[in-house]
Amino acid sequence: MTNWISKFVKPKIKSLFKKRSASKDKAALWINCQCKSLIYKDELFNNLSVCPKCNFHHKLTSQERFSIFFDNKEYTILEAPIPRDNPLQFPNYEEKLKKAREKTKQPDALLIADGKLDGMRVIVGAQNFYHIGGAVGSASGEAFLHGVQHAINNKSPFIFFSASGGQKMQEGTIALVQMSRTVLAINEFKKHNLPYIVVMTNPTSGGASASFAGLGDVAIAEPGAIVAFAGARVIKDTIKEELPINFQKSEWVFNFGGIDLICERKNIRSKISTLLSILLKKKEEAISTPDVKSFEEDLQPARKKQII
Ligand SMILES: [Zn+2]
Repeated sequence: MTNWISKFVKPKIKSLFKKRSASKDKAALWINCQCKSLIYKDELFNNLSVCPKCNFHHKLTSQERFSIFFDNKEYTILEAPIPRDNPLQFPNYEEKLKKAREKTKQPDALLIADGKLDGMRVIVGAQNFYHIGGAVGSASGEAFLHGVQHAINNKSPFIFFSASGGQKMQEGTIALVQMSRTVLAINEFKKHNLPYIVVMTNPTSGGASASFAGLGDVAIAEPGAIVAFAGARVIKDTIKEELPINFQKSEWVFNFGGIDLICERKNIRSKISTLLSILLKKKEEAISTPDVKSFEEDLQPARKKQII
């Protein structure tokens, strides 16, 4: 039935929605950087998600990380065992997991992939902060152990890109025990004399920094990444003092010897390739590449023992 509502009111309402969705589409093309610049998403993506104006290293998903790290963007995601979703029946946790999976297209925040770096086979793990803040629970623990075992079986180096706020409170002790499980896995891995390199990305904190992310043979971090255990706000509220401006940024942690090397995203492939050549006792090849010099300049002269 045609009346004044369908003739005048409905089209007007529809046009309002159209306008809104058009502006939403436009907004989807741009991203707001911390430097308050509006950056075209394609431009940011082509620059490895690093702001061309302020050099801020934006967060990457696990698959974005893999595609910029492996040769020719070729890799295989390993299927790790998936434990029970909500072992403690924490309220609303299943719904949260479902939303995170839909949003990120990942079953868990931590993925492991097998591929090549400059022709060398490497196993790589990467956490996705967009999946419940990269929180570590039993699924991440299983994936990590699976990755370590796969690297041992194939006598390959293990590279890990950390991005996590800590352990999953919804899994309680089960999440906490992943700290010791992953530490034991790395201990086992090191018995095989294979290199384990960690790249700490923004942010690496809580249980992740206190376990597997803190055990790399070489600890690399991206510029400006937060590398911490407890958050700055918690510390400030506890000690009731102003904190340094750069507090817990990778450059600050580097100055105290907690990080060996700060490396821009565009150089990570070449730095790790050089490091692996050295660690795998292929020094002849490493010395012949110009990258060795810059790596040695950037590296801490001697890793300080000061505890931060
Ligand atoms: Zn910026």
